[in-house]
Amino acid sequence: MFKGVFIDDKEEEKKYAELLTNNSSGQLNIEFRLPEHEVTELAGHLIDQHYDFAAIDFRLDEVPIKDAEGGGQKNKYRASALAQQIRDRAIDQPNCDLPLILLSQEDYIKRIFHADLTAEDLFDLVISKEELVSPQPLALAASRIASMATAYKTIHASYTKNNNNPVAPNIHLELDSHEAEMVLNHQAIRAIAKIQYPHQIVAKVMALLIRRPGILLSDEHLLARLGVSPDSPNIPQLKAKLFDFKLGYSGLLCEGWPRWWWHRLDAWSKETLGASLGSLAGSERVAKLSNALQIELKPAISKWSKSSDEYFWVACSSCDHPTELKHSVLGYDANYQPFLEPSRICWYCIQTGAYESRDLVIDDSDESLAEKIRNGKIQPQTQMPS
Ligand SMILES: [Zn+2]
Repeated sequence: MFKGVFIDDKEEEKKYAELLTNNSSGQLNIEFRLPEHEVTELAGHLIDQHYDFAAIDFRLDEVPIKDAEGGGQKNKYRASALAQQIRDRAIDQPNCDLPLILLSQEDYIKRIFHADLTAEDLFDLVISKEELVSPQPLALAASRIASMATAYKTIHASYTKNNNNPVAPNIHLELDSHEAEMVLNHQAIRAIAKIQYPHQIVAKVMALLIRRPGILLSDEHLLARLGVSPDSPNIPQLKAKLFDFKLGYSGLLCEGWPRWWWHRLDAWSKETLGASLGSLAGSERVAKLSNALQIELKPAISKWSKSSDEYFWVACSSCDHPTELKHSVLGYDANYQPFLEPSRICWYCIQTGAYESRDLVIDDSDESLAEKIRNGKIQPQTQMPS
């Protein structure tokens, strides 16, 4: 069990510490604390308590907390100032580094937090309080917090084992050195071997492997690659079989963010289906897959062409549905790396405007194409003007 703390200036918000604890299947025990000290002092207390993680509300300064002698307000700081103090302490003592979770109201996260890129880098995980209204999102948030805490412990242990030196990225990702040479030999990934601090390793693994498809695939991208509809029957059985074939990722953060190795899936499908996935239309992939695994599966249907005979490749960044390169535009990603699969937004989400509410931006190179979809110059069943 992981011992954590939730800091908020409003006593009634204590309920979030209890809700997460109670929905964590016994993995978390979260205490509640008011920001009763000056920022440096509070950061020191949190480090000294050896918590496995700290969750912090964005606004810590709205309800003034004064000392007993009636002095001035002590909590004149926000989450980012407290997080910065904790990260500064970790520079001197990497073994004190701990996961920091921003647990706050949605509008603060959207309006203020995401506008401050420095603040964004300080937190491992952002959870909005509004999400935590029912058991399912609570259990997901709790499992992600536990996964973060596990990742930090794993990194600390790998240091200790390596005489307090950083270790090669394949150790964190649970890949043997032969496979690593084939898959992880990219400058941005090799750089992880020089990082000293757990929070920086976690941030890199998140940005380069977990949050973006390429080397690893999320469940949504896995289904797109296989051409399987997200509402297909037997998806749990399909995943269980693929896991038995050792296509599942078991490295850092795998508990909170299930992922699949693309290079293993690619090799496995060539061997098992007799063709590379990209050379088969979705309907053909699913027929071969159903036959090979003896489970009934439903092929994906393009939201644009309404056909299963499309070459599905990625999950749309907006709707998560399998989409084909032909009927999607490039999404803008400031942190793109050549070994990643670029973000794509399906034409359907462009037409409906749904992508805008997901804070996605179209890459300049595809903006004129997107405009033709928006203004109806390109419509379903219309061929692209050549
Ligand atoms: Zn979409």
